[in-house]
Amino acid sequence: MSREPCDGCGKKVAIGGASTNLWSFNQKSTGGLVLELADGTEHFLCHDCIDALPEDREVTAADVEALSER
Ligand SMILES: [Zn+2]
Repeated sequence: MSREPCDGCGKKVAIGGASTNLWSFNQKSTGGLVLELADGTEHFLCHDCIDALPEDREVTAADVEALSER
């Protein structure tokens, strides 16, 4: 277990080891997930930021940048 800054809000959140299934939303022991976006970039985001991402269209890096401006 280590801590990484969220790419959205900058908050340090816990992330599980490499063996963790990062796509499983049952992994509540970790504070965030690495998401691969529609534009091919990868971002580590906390659950709060993931919840704030738009759900009605594909998410891009611009959406992640917008999270820090809230
Ligand atoms: Zn965040």
